[in-house]
Amino acid sequence: SQWVYPFETGRAADKMLLGGKGANLAEMTRAGLPVPPGFTIGTPACHAFYEQGGALSAEMWSEIETAVHHLEEAAGKQFGGADNPLLVSVRSGAPISMPGMMDTVLNLGLNDETVQGLARRTQNERFAYDCYRRFIQMFGDVVLGLPHYQFEQVLDDVKDSVGVKDDQQMRAEDWQKLIARFRKLVERETGRPFPQNPYEQLRMAIEAVFRSWNNQRAIVYRKIHKISDELGTAVNVQSMVFGNMGEDSGTGVAFTRNPSTGEPGVFGEYLTNAQGEDVVAGIRTPKPIAQLADEMPAIYNQFLQVCDQLERHYKDVQDIEFTVEQGRLYLLQTRSAKRTAEAAVRIAVALVNEGLIDQKTALTRVDPDQIDQLLHPRIDPDHEVDVLATGLPASPGAASGKIVLSADDAEARAKAGEKVLLVRTETTPEDIHGILAAEGILTSRGGMTSHAAVVARGMGKPCVCGCDALQINMRTKTVQIGSHTFREGDVISIDGATGRVLRGEVAHVRPELSEDFRTLLGWADEVRRLEVRANADNPEDAEKARAFGAQGIGLCRTEHMFMAPERVPVVQSMILAKTLEERNAALARLLPMQQGDFYGILKAMDGLPVTIRLLDPPLHEFLPNLEQLVAHQAALQTKLQYVSGLEAEQTQQELEDVSALLGQVRQLHELNPMLGHRGCRLGVTFPEVYEMQARAIFQAAVQLLREGHQPRPEVMIPLVGHREELRRMKELVQRVAAAVAEETGVTVPCIVGTMIEVPRAAVTADEIAQEAEFFSFGTNDLTQTTFGFSRDDAEGKFLHHYTAEKILPENPFAVLDESGVGKLIHLAAELGRGVNPALKLGICGEHGGEKNSIRFCHEQGLHYVSCSPFRVPLARLAAAQAAV
Ligand code: ADP
Ligand code: MG
Ligand code: MG
Repeated sequence: SQWVYPFETGRAADKMLLGGKGANLAEMTRAGLPVPPGFTIGTPACHAFYEQGGALSAEMWSEIETAVHHLEEAAGKQFGGADNPLLVSVRSGAPISMPGMMDTVLNLGLNDETVQGLARRTQNERFAYDCYRRFIQMFGDVVLGLPHYQFEQVLDDVKDSVGVKDDQQMRAEDWQKLIARFRKLVERETGRPFPQNPYEQLRMAIEAVFRSWNNQRAIVYRKIHKISDELGTAVNVQSMVFGNMGEDSGTGVAFTRNPSTGEPGVFGEYLTNAQGEDVVAGIRTPKPIAQLADEMPAIYNQFLQVCDQLERHYKDVQDIEFTVEQGRLYLLQTRSAKRTAEAAVRIAVALVNEGLIDQKTALTRVDPDQIDQLLHPRIDPDHEVDVLATGLPASPGAASGKIVLSADDAEARAKAGEKVLLVRTETTPEDIHGILAAEGILTSRGGMTSHAAVVARGMGKPCVCGCDALQINMRTKTVQIGSHTFREGDVISIDGATGRVLRGEVAHVRPELSEDFRTLLGWADEVRRLEVRANADNPEDAEKARAFGAQGIGLCRTEHMFMAPERVPVVQSMILAKTLEERNAALARLLPMQQGDFYGILKAMDGLPVTIRLLDPPLHEFLPNLEQLVAHQAALQTKLQYVSGLEAEQTQQELEDVSALLGQVRQLHELNPMLGHRGCRLGVTFPEVYEMQARAIFQAAVQLLREGHQPRPEVMIPLVGHREELRRMKELVQRVAAAVAEETGVTVPCIVGTMIEVPRAAVTADEIAQEAEFFSFGTNDLTQTTFGFSRDDAEGKFLHHYTAEKILPENPFAVLDESGVGKLIHLAAELGRGVNPALKLGICGEHGGEKNSIRFCHEQGLHYVSCSPFRVPLARLAAAQAAV
């Protein structure tokens, strides 16, 4: 088999084999762009490496040696040669880009002998020793696993001893001193001298890159971004070019458009006299790319052309790494740029307008999961803010939280339910779990392309970086921002859109949909087949949903209307009524309230369907808690022993009331409320309640019809498992409808249907469909009842274990379980349509706002999905993606 692929032989489509970096290096090489020569060891080699217990096979190694010989010929240099040494970088590169998560080693091939050769050839001793010290440090860190800070400490020591502040001021002999110290450090820590044989160095580095696929931060990153652990990484071995050869050299990173806002124009940063890692690691704050126009105008123009060429070639925004060696430009990487949702939308629309892609392609360029970000809170412009400092606007959104100074603290405090802001000098890939846990990230160093910025944008977290006015003192655990001092735990805010750092908590507002986003959603509406409705229980939510493009309400829960504090006593007296008269009296008081609710919602959704679900939860949910009542009773009994006279009488009375209430609560108490006296079972046993609700719906509709509106109520009966349940409830609803029509002389157009949320309903859907005008799949309950999981217990107790152990691929309450719950949906839809071709089919569980589940609904031919108002735009896009 073949393990190794020279850059000239690959192409961009070979990402699975060559990894993204290797595939694009190959593609650029073929396009004639200036890429230093090299070869890629494919991902199959990574699998073989692990199968062989973490070693390279002899066969693989000999292919690698041969490839190195070809490189030597191409470069006219010798690997390990004392006269004109070839140096290489050994670079990780997975099929899906994981910026900074895995390892790379630069300047490999240097040793005590070759460094002298390099110095002679370049006539630049300082440069050669700078490379060597970088190499030992990187190799020590990445390959030998020595902690970074040990090298930093030695560096600081040596700088002190030669009286130098900046790396820039170090002379060749200073670097030599440092190298001697580094080598001692390595020997002391590993028990062996620093490896001098370049081939040994190469083998060790390749193995380390393969191992880095399974380092902690890579594993965490894959988990967050749902990347398969099975992919493996490729390794790229590439001949070095040097950005650290002086002021006519440099290195940088650029995006072909702004990855934060989507604004057109090349956007990036560079450093002169530096090596690549310096830019991305955020150690020195780099210069904006525009400055290159002054410093190296020819290179700048060439680079702009390359950007244009790459964007046209890939038909997408590129993230490009480049190096300038003594006035010559080299490209070291290109990939589709990670971008915020805002940028994704703006760029997708712009590329259509520029004729690079069509509308359907544009729809696939925005991940529905990102859309949440567009509706992320921003700082309320009408609110006064106290600006402490301003840094770089690295990732938009507003975030407030307590200052924490380490990733571990961020994680621990967030777990405890606190909102935190991660405040760091700079972030490293090891901070990934803290970035995930924090509301936002603030750093004092590093630019727009620093690690913190890239990762934050990928996750949609607000981030401000390179805030010079920020100083962190880890010893005292304090943070200095300008002239103000804060302690860990103090609350500050950041505005990732402007770079502002603000005192205290600030007011947030939900943004409007941008013009571009509306355009994109308009294209989505043209191609999608699924309708999108919203779950809303009140006029405000209904209006919001409508503004986001909802085509109706798929689930209006009536129990929330019963929970309003001023209504609870009436609801309780209805539940606790001893006679039918008492109950009817309480219901008569609830009727106008409910009618008002429905009036508001139907009016907000004028002309659009509103599916109203009759009361669903068990009645005891509206009563005082059993344990509290028991405690209250005990307290009164105790009190009675110590009081006398009037007080005793009052206490006695109170005790009797509480005991009576307790008796009733006990009667209604259930061991398994989820499977208990709820849904249509309530309607069957207390028909007066459903009658009141139906009357409220029809009277509200009559009112609206008289006012010239177009109410379209759909009455939904919950938790039906047997046709007879639905038949009776439908009869009840129709009886009330007829009565209201007769009383008012106005007939309300209305359909009656049911939720499909227990397995029996799904498997007898042909029977149930004879009574139903629509089915709405209540996938929250259907998932509970199909798995036999109680959601509240499962999510807190064992589900995370199930997903971690890969017993289940996903939390089935978040992503629809297609092979189980989905099969029931499929069956019910088929059976239902079989007897009633006009049957309307929809889904109203939380899955209705999740992209994979939406795709499934599309494939099953459902008519609509219904989700929370803020998810409506997401669902419109996901429904379109399912259709293109
Ligand atoms: P990452 O995947 O973390 O971005 P890379 O493999 O891209 O790691 O390497 C990081 C940086 O090292 C690059 O941005 C580039 O500037 C520098 N680099 C890598 N290979 C070479 C090379 N052959 N010559 C010069 N610089 C290189
Ligand atoms: Mg890179
Ligand atoms: Mg339900």
